[in-house]
Amino acid sequence: MTTQNENVYDLLIAGQGASGYAAALYAARYQIKSAIFGSVFGGETATGGLIENYPGILEIDGFELMMKFREQAEKYGVPIINENVAAARKVGADFEITTDEGAKYRGAAIVLAVGRERRKLGLEHEDEWVGRGISYCSTCDAPLHRGNVVAVVGGGDAAVKGAVLLGKYAEKVYVIYRGSQFTRPEAVNIRQLEASPNVVPVLDTTVVELLGDDGLSSIRLDRPHQGSDSIDIHGLFIEIGADPRVELANELGVELNEMNEVIVDKHGATNVEGVFAAGDLTNGSGELKQTITASAQGAIAATSAYHYVSEHGSACEIHATGFAA
Ligand SMILES: Cc1cc2nc3c(=O)[nH]c(=O)nc-3n(C[C@H](O)[C@H](O)[C@H](O)COP(=O)(O)OP(=O)(O)OC[C@H]3O[C@@H](n4cnc5c(N)ncnc54)[C@H](O)[C@@H]3O)c2cc1C
Repeated sequence: MTTQNENVYDLLIAGQGASGYAAALYAARYQIKSAIFGSVFGGETATGGLIENYPGILEIDGFELMMKFREQAEKYGVPIINENVAAARKVGADFEITTDEGAKYRGAAIVLAVGRERRKLGLEHEDEWVGRGISYCSTCDAPLHRGNVVAVVGGGDAAVKGAVLLGKYAEKVYVIYRGSQFTRPEAVNIRQLEASPNVVPVLDTTVVELLGDDGLSSIRLDRPHQGSDSIDIHGLFIEIGADPRVELANELGVELNEMNEVIVDKHGATNVEGVFAAGDLTNGSGELKQTITASAQGAIAATSAYHYVSEHGSACEIHATGFAA
């Protein structure tokens, strides 16, 4: 499956996160010609701080872990193109993508691995202090807060579940929500929250300021809680949802579920032939959106893409002399 045309590939992979790199590794080992695209290296894993639940590695900084993912792809010579995919469309039997710098590439198959956009509070220092007191993932970072005082912002199921989990580690957990009651938590989770003596709901309240020097040390509220409008905390977990990045999926006609996640089957295939998807963008691992599950999905999607390319023919062979970027 070789080509004379440098912008034609068997597989185009959008997203330089765990799912994208795992897909790149597997594609390379199947010896199909692939390239990985993205202007932001490493995805959420790279900025998520300490990782203590990636099997086989006791603990590692997320950025370092993603560097290892990249080294592995580089070892197999996978081109890493540091540009986002701005547009994707079907052209004949292939797919054509255009990067945000205007370059065009063709591929017989595509893996969408572009993750999700975490919803933010929109406060000063919020981005800067991720990993220094601010987290968007209770499941991931709860064990880092043994004996600490922390707060969760949000009133949905993820916030309630996160607070219960944090309550097992932290000394005290405030759950700050702007509404007067939590919205749609699963009954079992709300019961567990009520049974957690160190979890304190703070309702009808909004966080208005993040305070600290080189990281978060306290938060200011829009109304006093027990006589004070600020609370000293070691960690703030922002659990107000995440939006799958579905623009490319929409352009390609890929079906989404009610949570706006790309629907994939057990092979990582979408409803559109030749379009595969992996990681947090998808419904593939249910609620367990983690580096391990994203990686596994990337491997599965690449395997399916390999079978697809083998059956349908490589874009590289078809376009070896035809397509010019
Ligand atoms: C604070 C935090 C801490 C975490 N800690 C842990 C942990 O301890 N353990 C654990 O297992 N998991 C952890 N997670 C979860 C884990 O990071 C994610 O599940 C994982 O990164 C998902 O990988 P992904 O490849 O699906 O998506 P992502 O990591 O989000 O990667 C997607 C990539 O695609 C890129 N992209 C977006 N649009 C485009 C485009 N148009 N073209 C090309 N590229 C694009 C993005 O910039 C990004 O680089 C944490 C998450 C957060 C937020």
